Amino acid sequence: MRVMVQKFGGTSVATKERMLQVLEKVRGGLQNGCKVLAVLSARSGDTNNLLALASEWSDNPDPAESDVLVSTGEQVSVALFTMLLKDAGIRARSCTGGQIGVRSNSTFGKARIRSIDTHAITALFEHYDVLVVTGFQGVTEDGRITTLGRGGSDTSAVALAAAAKAELCEIYTDVEGVFTTDPNLCAKARKLERVSYDEMLEMASMGAKVLEIRSVEFAKKFKVPVLVRSTFSEAPGTLVTQEEQSMEQIMVSGIAYDKDQARITLRSVRDMPGVAAAIFGPLAAARLSVDMIVQTPSRDGVTDMNFTVSRKDLRRALDIMTAVGEGVGGIDIVHDDNVVKISVIGVGMRNHSGVAAKAFAALQAENINILMISTSEIKISCLIEEKYVELAVRTLHDAFELDKSSYLED
Ligand code: ADP
Ligand code: ASP
Ligand code: MG
Repeated sequence: MRVMVQKFGGTSVATKERMLQVLEKVRGGLQNGCKVLAVLSARSGDTNNLLALASEWSDNPDPAESDVLVSTGEQVSVALFTMLLKDAGIRARSCTGGQIGVRSNSTFGKARIRSIDTHAITALFEHYDVLVVTGFQGVTEDGRITTLGRGGSDTSAVALAAAAKAELCEIYTDVEGVFTTDPNLCAKARKLERVSYDEMLEMASMGAKVLEIRSVEFAKKFKVPVLVRSTFSEAPGTLVTQEEQSMEQIMVSGIAYDKDQARITLRSVRDMPGVAAAIFGPLAAARLSVDMIVQTPSRDGVTDMNFTVSRKDLRRALDIMTAVGEGVGGIDIVHDDNVVKISVIGVGMRNHSGVAAKAFAALQAENINILMISTSEIKISCLIEEKYVELAVRTLHDAFELDKSSYLED
Protein backbone atom coordinates (compact mmCIF):
# COMPACT_ATOMS: atom_id res chain seq x y z
CA MET A 1 0.00 0.00 0.00
CA ARG A 2 1.41 3.39 -1.02
CA VAL A 3 0.70 6.17 1.45
CA MET A 4 1.31 9.91 1.29
CA VAL A 5 0.72 12.58 3.89
CA GLN A 6 -0.67 15.97 2.93
CA LYS A 7 -0.87 18.65 5.61
CA PHE A 8 -2.99 21.76 5.18
CA GLY A 9 -2.43 24.83 7.35
CA GLY A 10 -4.95 27.25 8.82
CA THR A 11 -5.23 29.59 5.83
CA SER A 12 -5.69 26.62 3.47
CA VAL A 13 -8.79 25.40 5.33
CA ALA A 14 -10.17 28.80 6.37
CA THR A 15 -13.27 28.75 4.13
CA LYS A 16 -15.36 26.28 2.17
CA GLU A 17 -13.95 27.63 -1.12
CA ARG A 18 -10.40 27.01 0.06
CA MET A 19 -11.30 23.57 1.34
CA LEU A 20 -12.55 22.78 -2.16
CA GLN A 21 -9.08 23.69 -3.46
CA VAL A 22 -7.61 21.40 -0.79
CA LEU A 23 -9.93 18.66 -2.03
CA GLU A 24 -8.31 18.87 -5.46
CA LYS A 25 -4.85 18.36 -3.90
CA VAL A 26 -6.14 15.27 -2.10
CA ARG A 27 -7.68 14.01 -5.33
CA GLY A 28 -4.27 14.44 -6.94
CA GLY A 29 -2.72 12.21 -4.29
CA LEU A 30 -5.36 9.53 -4.91
CA GLN A 31 -4.82 9.76 -8.68
CA ASN A 32 -1.15 9.03 -8.03
CA GLY A 33 -2.23 5.68 -6.62
CA CYS A 34 -1.72 6.57 -2.94
CA LYS A 35 -3.89 6.36 0.13
CA VAL A 36 -3.88 9.82 1.70
CA LEU A 37 -3.45 10.85 5.30
CA ALA A 38 -4.73 14.44 5.20
CA VAL A 39 -3.59 16.28 8.33
CA LEU A 40 -5.49 19.51 8.98
CA SER A 41 -4.91 22.58 11.14
CA ALA A 42 -7.70 24.59 12.69
CA ARG A 43 -9.16 27.26 10.41
CA SER A 44 -6.99 30.38 10.68
CA GLY A 45 -7.85 32.39 13.76
CA ASP A 46 -9.71 29.55 15.50
CA THR A 47 -6.81 28.48 17.74
CA ASN A 48 -6.19 32.08 18.84
CA ASN A 49 -9.89 32.58 19.53
CA LEU A 50 -10.07 29.41 21.63
CA LEU A 51 -6.99 30.43 23.63
CA ALA A 52 -8.55 33.86 24.22
CA LEU A 53 -11.76 32.17 25.35
CA ALA A 54 -9.86 30.12 27.93
CA SER A 55 -8.27 33.34 29.26
CA GLU A 56 -11.69 34.99 29.48
CA TRP A 57 -12.96 32.18 31.66
CA SER A 58 -9.94 31.82 33.89
CA ASP A 59 -6.95 33.93 34.95
CA ASN A 60 -4.88 30.79 34.95
CA PRO A 61 -6.57 28.23 32.66
CA ASP A 62 -6.01 24.62 33.68
CA PRO A 63 -3.56 23.32 31.03
CA ALA A 64 -5.33 19.98 30.52
CA GLU A 65 -8.75 21.60 30.11
CA SER A 66 -7.24 24.26 27.88
CA ASP A 67 -6.04 21.46 25.58
CA VAL A 68 -9.51 19.89 25.50
CA LEU A 69 -10.83 23.28 24.41
CA VAL A 70 -8.11 24.36 21.97
CA SER A 71 -7.95 20.98 20.20
CA THR A 72 -11.56 21.44 19.04
CA GLY A 73 -10.31 23.89 16.39
CA GLU A 74 -8.81 20.99 14.45
CA GLN A 75 -11.91 18.85 15.02
CA VAL A 76 -14.05 21.48 13.31
CA SER A 77 -11.75 21.43 10.26
CA VAL A 78 -11.60 17.65 9.88
CA ALA A 79 -15.35 17.18 10.25
CA LEU A 80 -16.17 19.87 7.67
CA PHE A 81 -13.52 18.69 5.22
CA THR A 82 -14.59 15.05 5.46
CA MET A 83 -18.15 16.10 4.64
CA LEU A 84 -16.87 17.72 1.44
CA LEU A 85 -14.86 14.61 0.52
CA LYS A 86 -17.86 12.35 1.04
CA ASP A 87 -20.08 14.65 -1.00
CA ALA A 88 -17.49 14.31 -3.77
CA GLY A 89 -17.82 10.51 -3.60
CA ILE A 90 -14.44 9.91 -1.92
CA ARG A 91 -14.23 7.19 0.72
CA ALA A 92 -13.08 9.23 3.71
CA ARG A 93 -13.46 9.53 7.45
CA SER A 94 -12.20 11.88 10.11
CA CYS A 95 -9.91 10.83 12.96
CA THR A 96 -8.74 12.58 16.11
CA GLY A 97 -5.12 12.25 17.21
CA GLY A 98 -6.11 9.58 19.70
CA GLN A 99 -8.14 7.60 17.17
CA ILE A 100 -5.21 7.50 14.72
CA GLY A 101 -2.81 6.33 17.47
CA VAL A 102 -0.78 9.48 18.30
CA ARG A 103 0.46 8.92 21.86
CA SER A 104 2.11 11.85 23.62
CA ASN A 105 3.51 12.69 27.02
CA SER A 106 1.35 14.75 29.34
CA THR A 107 3.03 18.16 29.00
CA PHE A 108 -0.29 19.83 28.21
CA GLY A 109 0.04 22.76 25.82
CA LYS A 110 3.37 21.56 24.44
CA ALA A 111 3.19 17.77 24.50
CA ARG A 112 5.77 15.65 22.68
CA ILE A 113 4.77 12.70 20.53
CA ARG A 114 6.07 9.52 22.15
CA SER A 115 4.84 6.93 19.66
CA ILE A 116 2.32 6.28 16.92
CA ASP A 117 0.44 3.00 16.94
CA THR A 118 -0.13 2.25 13.25
CA HIS A 119 -2.77 -0.46 13.72
CA ALA A 120 -5.59 2.03 13.28
CA ILE A 121 -4.09 3.45 10.08
CA THR A 122 -3.68 -0.01 8.55
CA ALA A 123 -7.16 -1.13 9.58
CA LEU A 124 -8.92 2.04 8.46
CA PHE A 125 -7.23 2.11 5.06
CA GLU A 126 -8.97 -1.21 4.34
CA HIS A 127 -12.23 0.73 4.20
CA TYR A 128 -11.23 4.30 3.35
CA ASP A 129 -8.98 6.00 0.82
CA VAL A 130 -8.51 9.21 2.79
CA LEU A 131 -8.12 9.56 6.54
CA VAL A 132 -8.60 13.16 7.61
CA VAL A 133 -6.62 13.63 10.81
CA THR A 134 -6.60 16.44 13.35
CA GLY A 135 -3.13 17.97 13.48
CA PHE A 136 -1.70 19.44 16.70
CA GLN A 137 -3.30 16.73 18.82
CA GLY A 138 -2.28 13.65 20.78
CA VAL A 139 -3.52 11.55 23.63
CA THR A 140 -1.74 10.56 26.84
CA GLU A 141 -1.27 6.99 28.07
CA ASP A 142 -4.36 7.45 30.23
CA GLY A 143 -6.49 8.83 27.42
CA ARG A 144 -6.34 12.60 27.97
CA ILE A 145 -6.22 14.96 24.99
CA THR A 146 -3.05 17.00 24.53
CA THR A 147 -1.92 19.69 22.09
CA LEU A 148 1.59 19.80 20.65
CA GLY A 149 2.45 23.53 20.82
CA ARG A 150 1.82 26.30 18.27
CA GLY A 151 2.38 25.21 14.69
CA GLY A 152 2.21 21.59 15.90
CA SER A 153 0.20 20.28 12.95
CA ASP A 154 3.44 20.19 10.95
CA THR A 155 4.84 17.83 13.57
CA SER A 156 1.72 15.65 13.48
CA ALA A 157 2.08 15.37 9.72
CA VAL A 158 5.76 14.44 9.65
CA ALA A 159 5.43 12.02 12.56
CA LEU A 160 2.50 10.30 10.85
CA ALA A 161 4.49 10.15 7.61
CA ALA A 162 7.37 8.46 9.44
CA ALA A 163 5.08 5.98 11.22
CA ALA A 164 3.03 5.11 8.13
CA LYS A 165 6.20 4.91 5.99
CA ALA A 166 4.68 7.46 3.64
CA GLU A 167 6.62 8.07 0.45
CA LEU A 168 6.25 11.84 0.82
CA CYS A 169 5.00 14.38 3.33
CA GLU A 170 3.59 17.43 1.58
CA ILE A 171 3.13 20.55 3.69
CA TYR A 172 0.62 22.81 1.94
CA THR A 173 0.62 26.41 3.10
CA ASP A 174 0.05 30.01 1.94
CA VAL A 175 3.49 30.50 0.33
CA GLU A 176 5.10 28.52 -2.48
CA GLY A 177 7.85 26.93 -0.42
CA VAL A 178 10.78 27.78 1.80
CA PHE A 179 12.30 31.09 0.78
CA THR A 180 15.62 32.76 1.53
CA THR A 181 13.65 34.81 4.03
CA ASP A 182 9.99 35.50 4.86
CA PRO A 183 8.46 36.45 1.47
CA ASN A 184 5.80 38.46 3.29
CA LEU A 185 8.51 40.74 4.69
CA CYS A 186 11.00 40.92 1.83
CA ALA A 187 9.80 41.16 -1.75
CA LYS A 188 13.17 39.95 -3.03
CA ALA A 189 12.98 36.66 -1.11
CA ARG A 190 13.79 33.76 -3.44
CA LYS A 191 12.26 30.32 -3.29
CA LEU A 192 14.72 27.52 -2.59
CA GLU A 193 14.43 24.35 -4.64
CA ARG A 194 15.99 22.25 -1.89
CA VAL A 195 17.06 22.87 1.65
CA SER A 196 18.93 20.49 3.96
CA TYR A 197 17.40 19.22 7.20
CA ASP A 198 20.13 21.02 9.16
CA GLU A 199 19.55 24.36 7.49
CA MET A 200 15.81 23.99 7.87
CA LEU A 201 16.32 23.14 11.55
CA GLU A 202 18.30 26.34 12.01
CA MET A 203 15.79 28.41 10.05
CA ALA A 204 12.86 26.97 12.01
CA SER A 205 14.57 27.40 15.35
CA MET A 206 15.56 30.96 14.40
CA GLY A 207 11.90 31.84 13.80
CA ALA A 208 11.00 30.89 10.20
CA LYS A 209 7.57 29.54 11.07
CA VAL A 210 6.97 27.96 7.67
CA LEU A 211 7.86 24.64 9.37
CA GLU A 212 7.63 24.00 13.08
CA ILE A 213 10.98 22.92 14.49
CA ARG A 214 9.94 19.55 15.89
CA SER A 215 8.57 18.55 12.51
CA VAL A 216 12.03 19.09 11.03
CA GLU A 217 13.62 17.09 13.86
CA PHE A 218 11.30 14.18 13.06
CA ALA A 219 11.95 14.52 9.34
CA LYS A 220 15.71 14.43 9.88
CA LYS A 221 15.59 11.54 12.34
CA PHE A 222 13.35 9.34 10.21
CA LYS A 223 14.59 10.67 6.83
CA VAL A 224 11.11 11.76 5.76
CA PRO A 225 11.21 13.75 2.52
CA VAL A 226 9.16 16.90 3.13
CA LEU A 227 7.83 19.03 0.29
CA VAL A 228 6.65 22.51 1.28
CA ARG A 229 4.29 24.00 -1.31
CA SER A 230 1.26 26.19 -1.87
CA THR A 231 -2.36 25.10 -1.69
CA PHE A 232 -3.21 27.87 -4.13
CA SER A 233 -0.85 27.14 -7.03
CA GLU A 234 0.80 24.29 -8.92
CA ALA A 235 4.34 25.57 -8.22
CA PRO A 236 6.78 22.73 -7.40
CA GLY A 237 7.66 23.84 -3.85
CA THR A 238 10.77 23.23 -1.76
CA LEU A 239 12.13 19.79 -0.91
CA VAL A 240 13.57 19.47 2.59
CA THR A 241 16.06 16.66 2.42
CA GLN A 242 19.49 15.34 3.34
CA GLU A 243 22.48 17.55 2.77
CA GLU A 244 24.18 17.23 -0.57
CA GLN A 245 27.73 18.04 -1.48
CA SER A 246 26.60 21.02 -3.53
CA MET A 247 24.78 22.58 -0.58
CA GLU A 248 28.00 22.72 1.41
CA GLN A 249 29.36 25.23 -1.10
CA ILE A 250 26.61 27.64 -0.21
CA MET A 251 27.71 29.98 2.54
CA VAL A 252 24.44 31.68 3.32
CA SER A 253 21.08 30.21 2.41
CA GLY A 254 18.67 32.31 4.42
CA ILE A 255 17.78 35.06 6.86
CA ALA A 256 15.30 34.42 9.68
CA TYR A 257 13.86 36.60 12.40
CA ASP A 258 12.23 35.80 15.71
CA LYS A 259 10.04 38.36 17.44
CA ASP A 260 9.44 36.12 20.42
CA GLN A 261 12.38 37.54 22.36
CA ALA A 262 12.68 39.56 25.56
CA ARG A 263 15.98 40.60 27.09
CA ILE A 264 16.81 40.62 30.79
CA THR A 265 19.99 42.13 32.23
CA LEU A 266 21.25 41.57 35.76
CA ARG A 267 23.71 44.38 36.32
CA SER A 268 26.76 44.02 38.56
CA VAL A 269 26.46 40.39 39.59
CA ARG A 270 29.45 38.92 41.42
CA ASP A 271 32.04 37.38 39.08
CA MET A 272 32.72 34.05 40.79
CA PRO A 273 32.06 30.33 40.30
CA GLY A 274 28.43 29.31 40.76
CA VAL A 275 26.80 32.60 39.79
CA ALA A 276 25.61 31.46 36.36
CA ALA A 277 24.26 28.25 37.90
CA ALA A 278 22.43 30.29 40.56
CA ILE A 279 20.78 32.42 37.86
CA PHE A 280 19.96 29.82 35.22
CA GLY A 281 19.22 26.85 37.50
CA PRO A 282 15.92 28.28 38.83
CA LEU A 283 14.86 29.32 35.31
CA ALA A 284 15.41 25.77 34.09
CA ALA A 285 13.60 24.36 37.13
CA ALA A 286 10.62 26.54 36.20
CA ARG A 287 10.87 25.12 32.62
CA LEU A 288 11.62 28.51 31.10
CA SER A 289 13.96 28.27 28.15
CA VAL A 290 16.74 30.77 27.85
CA ASP A 291 17.99 31.57 24.38
CA MET A 292 20.93 34.00 24.00
CA ILE A 293 23.32 34.54 26.91
CA VAL A 294 26.06 37.16 27.07
CA GLN A 295 28.25 37.83 30.10
CA THR A 296 30.29 41.02 29.90
CA PRO A 297 33.97 41.01 30.98
CA SER A 298 34.63 41.39 34.68
CA ARG A 299 35.37 44.84 36.14
CA ASP A 300 36.27 45.11 39.83
CA GLY A 301 34.91 41.60 40.52
CA VAL A 302 31.47 42.23 39.04
CA THR A 303 29.92 41.53 35.65
CA ASP A 304 26.62 42.02 33.75
CA MET A 305 24.61 38.95 32.81
CA ASN A 306 22.36 39.41 29.76
CA PHE A 307 19.98 36.78 28.43
CA THR A 308 16.79 36.42 26.44
CA VAL A 309 13.60 34.46 27.10
CA SER A 310 10.32 34.04 25.25
CA ARG A 311 8.11 37.15 25.65
CA LYS A 312 5.34 35.13 27.23
CA ASP A 313 7.81 33.99 29.93
CA LEU A 314 9.17 37.48 30.71
CA ARG A 315 7.02 38.14 33.78
CA ARG A 316 7.82 34.79 35.36
CA ALA A 317 11.51 35.13 34.55
CA LEU A 318 11.61 38.59 36.17
CA ASP A 319 9.92 37.23 39.30
CA ILE A 320 12.53 34.47 39.50
CA MET A 321 15.36 36.98 38.96
CA THR A 322 14.02 39.19 41.73
CA ALA A 323 14.15 36.16 44.02
CA VAL A 324 17.67 35.02 43.06
CA GLY A 325 19.21 38.40 42.16
CA GLU A 326 20.12 39.46 45.66
CA GLY A 327 22.00 36.23 46.37
CA VAL A 328 24.35 36.92 43.44
CA GLY A 329 24.62 40.68 43.97
CA GLY A 330 22.55 41.50 40.89
CA ILE A 331 19.72 43.51 42.34
CA ASP A 332 19.67 45.93 39.43
CA ILE A 333 17.46 44.12 36.91
CA VAL A 334 16.42 45.69 33.61
CA HIS A 335 14.37 44.25 30.78
CA ASP A 336 13.29 45.04 27.23
CA ASP A 337 10.77 43.22 25.06
CA ASN A 338 11.02 45.46 21.99
CA VAL A 339 13.77 43.29 20.61
CA VAL A 340 14.05 40.81 17.74
CA LYS A 341 16.62 38.17 16.94
CA ILE A 342 17.79 38.20 13.35
CA SER A 343 19.85 35.28 12.02
CA VAL A 344 22.01 34.57 8.99
CA ILE A 345 22.02 30.83 8.22
CA GLY A 346 24.05 28.56 5.95
CA VAL A 347 25.73 25.15 6.23
CA GLY A 348 28.70 26.32 4.15
CA MET A 349 29.53 28.91 6.80
CA ARG A 350 31.29 26.25 8.82
CA ASN A 351 34.11 26.16 6.28
CA HIS A 352 34.41 29.88 5.67
CA SER A 353 35.27 32.98 7.60
CA GLY A 354 34.07 36.52 7.09
CA VAL A 355 30.32 35.93 7.11
CA ALA A 356 29.85 37.48 10.55
CA ALA A 357 31.97 40.52 9.69
CA LYS A 358 29.97 41.06 6.50
CA ALA A 359 26.67 40.84 8.40
CA PHE A 360 27.85 43.28 11.08
CA ALA A 361 29.09 45.76 8.48
CA ALA A 362 25.77 45.61 6.62
CA LEU A 363 23.83 46.37 9.82
CA GLN A 364 26.24 49.15 10.70
CA ALA A 365 25.74 50.75 7.28
CA GLU A 366 22.06 51.14 8.18
CA ASN A 367 22.92 52.38 11.67
CA ILE A 368 21.31 49.34 13.29
CA ASN A 369 22.77 48.73 16.72
CA ILE A 370 23.51 45.12 17.73
CA LEU A 371 22.49 44.39 21.32
CA MET A 372 23.64 40.78 21.60
CA ILE A 373 25.36 38.26 19.34
CA SER A 374 25.39 34.47 19.34
CA THR A 375 26.85 32.07 16.82
CA SER A 376 26.93 28.40 15.92
CA GLU A 377 28.90 26.81 13.13
CA ILE A 378 26.07 27.36 10.68
CA LYS A 379 24.41 30.57 11.90
CA ILE A 380 25.02 34.05 13.26
CA SER A 381 22.30 35.71 15.33
CA CYS A 382 22.05 39.35 16.39
CA LEU A 383 19.55 40.84 18.78
CA ILE A 384 18.34 44.24 17.52
CA GLU A 385 15.55 46.70 18.28
CA GLU A 386 12.22 45.48 16.93
CA LYS A 387 11.58 48.61 14.88
CA TYR A 388 14.49 47.68 12.60
CA VAL A 389 13.38 44.15 11.77
CA GLU A 390 12.22 44.73 8.19
CA LEU A 391 15.17 46.96 7.38
CA ALA A 392 17.59 44.43 8.85
CA VAL A 393 16.07 41.49 6.95
CA ARG A 394 16.25 43.38 3.64
CA THR A 395 19.72 44.72 4.33
CA LEU A 396 21.17 41.30 5.11
CA HIS A 397 19.29 39.74 2.20
CA ASP A 398 20.90 42.31 -0.11
CA ALA A 399 24.34 42.03 1.51
CA PHE A 400 24.49 38.29 0.79
CA GLU A 401 22.81 38.72 -2.61
CA LEU A 402 20.25 36.10 -1.76
CA ASP A 403 17.90 37.31 -4.46
CA LYS A 404 20.35 36.26 -7.17
CA SER A 405 21.72 32.92 -6.13
CA SER A 406 22.99 31.56 -2.89
CA TYR A 407 26.00 33.48 -1.67
CA LEU A 408 29.27 31.76 -2.55
CA GLU A 409 32.77 32.53 -1.47
CA ASP A 410 34.21 35.67 -3.08
P1 ADP B 1 0.31 27.40 8.03
O1 ADP B 1 -0.87 28.03 8.66
O2 ADP B 1 0.07 26.89 6.64
O3 ADP B 1 0.98 26.38 8.92
P2 ADP B 1 2.29 29.38 8.81
O4 ADP B 1 1.74 30.76 8.95
O5 ADP B 1 2.53 28.60 10.04
O6 ADP B 1 1.36 28.59 7.79
O7 ADP B 1 3.67 29.42 7.99
C1 ADP B 1 3.72 30.06 6.72
C2 ADP B 1 4.30 31.46 6.87
O8 ADP B 1 5.67 31.37 7.26
C3 ADP B 1 4.35 32.28 5.62
O9 ADP B 1 3.11 32.93 5.35
C4 ADP B 1 5.51 33.25 5.86
O10 ADP B 1 5.06 34.53 6.26
C5 ADP B 1 6.26 32.62 7.04
N1 ADP B 1 7.70 32.47 6.78
C6 ADP B 1 8.70 32.90 7.61
N2 ADP B 1 9.90 32.62 7.11
C7 ADP B 1 9.70 31.99 5.92
C8 ADP B 1 10.57 31.45 4.91
N3 ADP B 1 11.92 31.50 5.04
N4 ADP B 1 10.02 30.88 3.82
C9 ADP B 1 8.67 30.82 3.67
N5 ADP B 1 7.79 31.32 4.60
C10 ADP B 1 8.28 31.91 5.70
N1 ASP C 1 -3.83 25.25 15.06
C1 ASP C 1 -2.55 25.21 15.73
C2 ASP C 1 -1.93 26.59 15.78
O1 ASP C 1 -2.53 27.54 15.31
C3 ASP C 1 -1.62 24.20 15.13
C4 ASP C 1 -1.21 24.48 13.70
O2 ASP C 1 -1.87 25.24 12.99
O3 ASP C 1 -0.21 23.92 13.27
O4 ASP C 1 -0.87 26.74 16.31
MG1 MG D 1 2.25 26.59 10.61
